[in-house]
Amino acid sequence: MGSESYRLTCVRCGKVFEDLQDRFLLQCDEDHGPSLLRSEYDNKQLTIQREHPGIFRYNQWLPIRRVVDTPVKPAVFKSENLAQRIGLENLWIAFNGYWPERGAAMETCSFKELEALPVCARRPDGMEGILVVSSAGNTGRAFLQTCSRFGIPALIVVPEAALPAMWLTVPKHPNVKLAVLKGDRDYLDAIELADKIAALDGYFPEGGAKNVARRDGMGTVVLAAVEAIGRVPDHYFQAVGSGTGGIAAWEMSRRFRQDGRNGDHKMKLHLVQNVPFAIMSDAWRAGSRDLPLLDEHEAKGLIARLHSGVLSNRKPPYGITGGVYDALTDTDGQMYSVVSEEALLAGWLFESLEGCDLDPAAEVALAGLVRAARQGKVDKSDVVLLNLTGGGKNLLELEETPRPVRPDYVFSSKDYSLNQLEKQLLRSPTKISV
Ligand SMILES: [Zn+2]
Repeated sequence: MGSESYRLTCVRCGKVFEDLQDRFLLQCDEDHGPSLLRSEYDNKQLTIQREHPGIFRYNQWLPIRRVVDTPVKPAVFKSENLAQRIGLENLWIAFNGYWPERGAAMETCSFKELEALPVCARRPDGMEGILVVSSAGNTGRAFLQTCSRFGIPALIVVPEAALPAMWLTVPKHPNVKLAVLKGDRDYLDAIELADKIAALDGYFPEGGAKNVARRDGMGTVVLAAVEAIGRVPDHYFQAVGSGTGGIAAWEMSRRFRQDGRNGDHKMKLHLVQNVPFAIMSDAWRAGSRDLPLLDEHEAKGLIARLHSGVLSNRKPPYGITGGVYDALTDTDGQMYSVVSEEALLAGWLFESLEGCDLDPAAEVALAGLVRAARQGKVDKSDVVLLNLTGGGKNLLELEETPRPVRPDYVFSSKDYSLNQLEKQLLRSPTKISV
């Protein structure tokens, strides 16, 4: 396992890179527009390593340098009650959260653990420096928990509005730090501040959608589904803020096309956003690769009214080569914009019919599926995969008391110079030591 079992290929120019030990490659070095790298695995046919209970059973299709011990993987099961209610015969749920009865062991109650684990497992051996991760909420919580569990130095940057979502079920490791950007700031502001910090000596960027380990980690939802169902689904539903999960699902379904055992079967993407901030839905419906131009103040006003605050990236990887637009185009996909009342109703429906609470983004995804089923966008007998990206907090709280995380650093502006940032990080309560 390791760099010899996969390469990274630029989606735009085709340049091939080895994933070398001395770097954490996130983008192509050729002088062209923005593009994603994609992992290409030597094993074109996936053999599941069943001795691993968690996602590392799929390690042939993960860009990692080591396997860590974890029970975490998507819990995939066939729905009966919910499926019957919405008139589908082959509805499969990929539940990513905490639901022990179904085998879902994510104690942060979020699918972001599927990203955090492979990113930590891709970190080069002996690489020094602090991983900088920005988040609107659930990503930050997953990295706080995963990096704490494995003692990986990390700095998580979130807007103040995401602070209530920062909690842990394990003790916070002293090398894991939380930075909060105060005031009327959102996810994009946190991304911009994190980018600056990551440029300082001793820090390196996690990369978000550009990190192949993140996308392939999220793509394990499709791998777990194929393991449970025995085939690639016809349709894939997910709520999206950045759309990275949609890109990841598309990339995994492409690998199954290369695998050959599934024919040339294309899994159609159905991505769901939350009104009033549904910029990718708006662009897709307008047939545009470009996102609508929104004034910053106006956009923040819309984001503040979202049912699911994590679905709020103002600059998602939509038009980038290999991004959401290309994924939707290749799969003849659909986008939906659902209102908060539809999402709440969907959450109630799931809890009463299936028996577990959902987080708001998962409620948005189910609301999209309910609408698609009602409008005949999927046939009754089609194999449908619904990725529920979070839930089970009520079940978790029966067993655990989540501990809130206090910020180690508080920034009042994202407009610091690098020099000021460096001073602030040194001056703050506890200096990061590696
Ligand atoms: Zn390139």
